[in-house]
Amino acid sequence: MRSSLAGPRVLLRRLREVMAEPINAQERLDKIVVLIAANVVAEVCSVYILRADGMLELYATEGLNRDAVHKTSLGVGEGLVGLIAADARPLNLPNAQAHPAFAYRPETGEEAYNSFLGVPILRAGRTLGVLVVQNKSHRTYFEDEVEALQTTAMVIAEMVAAGELEAISQQGTKLDLTRPMEFKGVALSEGVGLGHVVLHEPRVVVTNLIAEDVDHELRRLESAINRLRLSLDDLLANGDLGQHGEHREVLEAFRMFAQDRGWIHKIEEAIRNGLTAEAAVEKVQSDTRARMMRQTDPYLRERLHDLDDLGNRLIRELMGRQHGPGTDSLPKDAIVIARNMGPAELLDYGRDRVRGLVLEEGGPTSHVTIVARALGIATVGLVQDIVSLAEGGDAIIVDGEMGQVQLRPPGDVENAYAEKVRFRARRQAQYRRLRSKPSVSRDGVEISLLLNAGLLVDLPAMVESGAGGIGLFRTELQFMVASSFPRMNEQKGLYEKVLDAAEGRPVTFRTLDIGGDKVLPYLRAIQEENPAMGWRALRLGLDRPAILRTQIRALLHAAAGRDLKIKFPMVADVAEFVQAKALVERELKHLKRHGHKTPNKLRLGVMIEVPSLLFQLEELFQEVDFVSVGSNDLLQFFYAADRGNTRVSDRFDPLNIGFMRALRRIVTRAKLAGVPVTLCGELAGRPLEAMALLALGYRDLSMSASALGPIKAMVRSVDIGRLSARILPKLEPGSGPVDLRKSLRAFAAEHDIPL
Ligand code: PEP
Ligand code: MG
Repeated sequence: MRSSLAGPRVLLRRLREVMAEPINAQERLDKIVVLIAANVVAEVCSVYILRADGMLELYATEGLNRDAVHKTSLGVGEGLVGLIAADARPLNLPNAQAHPAFAYRPETGEEAYNSFLGVPILRAGRTLGVLVVQNKSHRTYFEDEVEALQTTAMVIAEMVAAGELEAISQQGTKLDLTRPMEFKGVALSEGVGLGHVVLHEPRVVVTNLIAEDVDHELRRLESAINRLRLSLDDLLANGDLGQHGEHREVLEAFRMFAQDRGWIHKIEEAIRNGLTAEAAVEKVQSDTRARMMRQTDPYLRERLHDLDDLGNRLIRELMGRQHGPGTDSLPKDAIVIARNMGPAELLDYGRDRVRGLVLEEGGPTSHVTIVARALGIATVGLVQDIVSLAEGGDAIIVDGEMGQVQLRPPGDVENAYAEKVRFRARRQAQYRRLRSKPSVSRDGVEISLLLNAGLLVDLPAMVESGAGGIGLFRTELQFMVASSFPRMNEQKGLYEKVLDAAEGRPVTFRTLDIGGDKVLPYLRAIQEENPAMGWRALRLGLDRPAILRTQIRALLHAAAGRDLKIKFPMVADVAEFVQAKALVERELKHLKRHGHKTPNKLRLGVMIEVPSLLFQLEELFQEVDFVSVGSNDLLQFFYAADRGNTRVSDRFDPLNIGFMRALRRIVTRAKLAGVPVTLCGELAGRPLEAMALLALGYRDLSMSASALGPIKAMVRSVDIGRLSARILPKLEPGSGPVDLRKSLRAFAAEHDIPL
C-alpha cells in the first residue's frame, strides 16, 4: 500500500512559502493546518500549544469545530494529546477511541474520527505542543507521514521559540517556553549570581530549515561528518586531552557514534524529506534529547548525552562555527550552564565576566568545583536537565548558598535576590575595610588568620583578604587539573610563584593528598571498598617514594634561600612521619652534596586527621616542628561518618562534647610541649565554630578566602578570656547535659558578636 502523502518535499516547499507570507501568526497557523491536512489527506489537522500553566491549548484546527480554538485545552497526560506531550513520543492509532487514554471533548466534534496520528512539537528535547492529524477511516499512518508531521512540528517549534505565538495566546496566559522554573541542586560554591544564561556548548540556532537541493545537502552532511571524524581522531592522537576537558573514553564514544550508520541514516532520511543538513541533525537530536529526559538508567542517559554532544558538534561543523565557548560575546553577567566541564575550561572564561555556574553533574569534590570556589563563582551542581530547558540569554539566578537555581524568574523573585546580593555586597565592603585592621580580640589576644589555597588563582586572594599567609597549600590541586603527572620543574615553578606571591609571609605546603575521592585521571585508579580509609595521601607517598621524593625535591629547590614549611596528610602513626622525615633529610643531603642552595629554615609537621594520633600526642610532639588539625578528616573518622555522604555528614555536630574534648586535648598538650598548632579544616571558616576554637585555645586558623572577613569581624569583637571562662567548664565531666552551640550563640548575642 502506498502512502497518501504527496511528498514531504512538496509539503516543505509550500510551508516555506507560508512562512514567508506577510500575515499574522494565527493566519499562518491556520494555513499550516490546512496545508498539512491536504498533504497527508486527513480530514483533521490540529495544533495544541503548551501553556505555562501546564495546559495544552488548541491553537488552530482544520476539520474540528473552529469555535473550540483557544477554548479547548487538555492537561499534560490527559487524553491522547496530553499523553504525547507527557511522553514526547508520536502516537499512531487506527482506532483512537479504543485507546484507554482517549478523552472526549464534545465541543470539538471529534467523535466522528477513528484514526489518529500525533507528534510532539519539540525544541531541544522540550515539548512545546502537539500536532495531530485524524481520519474517519481506520488506517495506520505511514512512516513518511509521521516524518512529515515531525518536520512540520519543527517549523511550528521555531514559531513558538521566536515568540510569534505569545501574541495570540489567551489573555494573560504565557507559553511554556517562557515559564519561570525553579531547580534544586547541590550548593557547590557559595555566593549569589544574577545574570543571563550562557550555554557552555552553545546551541546553534538553525534558521534555515528547508532544503533547496537535497543532493547538495547530502554532500554537505557527508563532508561535515568527515571533518568531524578527523577532528576527533586528531584529539585522540595528540593525547593532550586534559586541555580540552575531555577524556579518552568520551572521545572514543564520540568516534563510535560518528561512525554509527543508524544515526547517520536517520539524518540522511530527514534530508531526503526536505530538510537542510543542519535542520536534519537538529531533528534527530531533538528526538535524542526527548529520550534522554525520559531515560532513568544512568549509563544509557550518559550515552544519549554523548550523542547529543556529537549532534552539537556536527551542527557547528555544518554552520562553520567554532567548537567550545565563544568568549568574545560573553555578557558581563554570564551564568554558565553546562552538563559538566573541566577546570581548565572554566579558567578560560576568566573571572571577571562569570557570575555563576550551573552544572547537571559536578559534585563537591569535582575539579571544576574546586576551581569555581577558588574563583569565587557561585555554583550549583546536580541540576537535572537544565541544559535543555535553558535558552541562551534567559535571565537566571544561581544561589550557591541554598543550592537553588531560578530560571526566568518572575519580578518578585528577582527583587528578593537582588536584595540578597546587595546585602552580601555591603557585608563584603565591611570586610574589606577590616583588611588592614589587626586580627586581635577585644581582650588583646592576637589570632593568626591564614588562607587555604591550592591554585595560582588563589594567590591574589591572599593580599585582597588580608591573610597572614597560607596555612594550607593543597598541592594535589595542581596534579588534579593536569593531564599528566606534573614534572619536577613544573611543581617547582608553582611553588616558587606561591612563595613569591606570599612576599615573606609564611606558607605551609601539604604534600600530595591524592587517593580516596581525589582522583588523578592519569593515575590508574584502584578499586577500593572504602577509598577514604584506603591507599591515599602519605600512605601512597611512602609506598611510591619516587612521587613523594620528586615533590620534596621541587619544594626544597623552590624555597632555596627562603623559609619552608611542609606538612604531611593522613598520618596515623608516628612512625609514618619519621619515615617521611628521613626521606626529606636524604633529599636535603643530596642537594647539598651537589652544591644546590637549600632553604634557610625547614620545618616539618603533621596533619592531625586520624584519631589514632590523639593517643600518641607526646611521641608525636617529640618528632614534629608543628602540627595542623585537619578537622574535616578528623571529624569523619572520629564519628565514622563519611564527609562526602550527605546522609551522614551532618549527623554529628562538631560542637558535640566528644569532638570538642578531642580538639581541646590536642591544643593543650601541644602548648605544654611547646609545639605550634594550627587548624585548617572547614570549622575554622565558620564564625560560631571558630569562636569555639578560640575558647579551646586555638590561635592560628586557616580557611578559605571568603571566610576571612567574617572570621576577622568575629575575632575583633570577642573577649576570649570571658568566652573561655563560660565555655571550658562545660567540657568538664559531670557538668550536666551541654548544648555548646546554644551557649555560644547566647554568648555572641550578649556581646554583639557578628556571626
Ligand atoms: C582536612 O581534612 O581538614 C583538611 C584540611 O584537608 P582536606 O580537606 O584537603 O582533606
Ligand atoms: Mg584532609
